Amino acid sequence: MTIKQDERITLLHGAGGQLMGELLARLLKRFTKTSVGGGLGLKELDDGAVIPLLGKNLVFTTDSHVVQPLFFPGGDIGRLAVAGTVNDLAVMGAQPLALSCGLVIPEGFPISELERILESMDRALEEAGAALITGDTKVLGHGELEGLIINTAGLGLAERVVTDAGLRAGDKILVTGTIGDHGMALLAHREGLGFETTLESDVAPINRLIARALEAGGEGITAMKDPTRGGLAACLNEMARKAGVGIMVHEGAIPMREEVRGLGELLGINPLEIANEGKAVIGVAPERAEAVLEALRSHPQGLRAALIGEATADYPGKVILVTEVGGKRFLENPIGDPVPRIC
Ligand code: MG
Repeated sequence: MTIKQDERITLLHGAGGQLMGELLARLLKRFTKTSVGGGLGLKELDDGAVIPLLGKNLVFTTDSHVVQPLFFPGGDIGRLAVAGTVNDLAVMGAQPLALSCGLVIPEGFPISELERILESMDRALEEAGAALITGDTKVLGHGELEGLIINTAGLGLAERVVTDAGLRAGDKILVTGTIGDHGMALLAHREGLGFETTLESDVAPINRLIARALEAGGEGITAMKDPTRGGLAACLNEMARKAGVGIMVHEGAIPMREEVRGLGELLGINPLEIANEGKAVIGVAPERAEAVLEALRSHPQGLRAALIGEATADYPGKVILVTEVGGKRFLENPIGDPVPRIC
């Protein structure tokens, strides 16, 4: 590919969709050594990397958080920074051990707000059962940064690694709860649409919920991923593409709050393309699907877990949405997230 001198990064390049995928594929080629000890690395583009170590699997991940506003219905940037990283570890099959926190703060930022954010991080860490063990702080001059940037890296341990590429035809597809809550809550709050009273972000560490699913599903759990940027649509497309299977999803089976559905229609934004911050998509062998679903629903975070579809040998790499009236259409990989700075 010839590289044009005047190419620039756009917001869509950071949005988790197809454009970001293309940019990543191009940039990652610059690195020579991209995995350790035969584990999973940069090339797999999974939720985290895996270093096989003394018969265990050390899982490592990192994530930067730039959400605006810093405080939103149901959470704040601190809770998001912990949940984002913990959940990336969890969907690799790992229990989170420790996180780092890199703060980039603008000059003039109120220290009281910073304290609120860090206290919120601490509560989320406690929920996850993880420790914050190292960090870094940088301050930028006035006007050089709007808001706050928090980078968290996380380390976890997995007995059995679960990738986002392991689906087999016939596997059932589960989601752990309602779809579209985080993105739509942020949007409603920003637009001042008055949905705030009922609609909250789902931001939460869900490693304990995932652990329950793993206990019930064992080897039957074939793939997991968290539907963050790009939403359920991007998540399913990536899982289908990596595994070389099709995914058939029943629209009517996807759990969704009425407010999310309504707001999506009002704003012309598809809730299936918007970020979730406390949910996972789980692929399960058919004979274990009922047990895993039951295990999820037995946890307070999984009350609305649902079986939404199955992997198929047809349409490899594609996601097919079966509408409530029985029609079928492709659920495309979104080009980019319709809303910037929601995670
Ligand atoms: Mg992820």
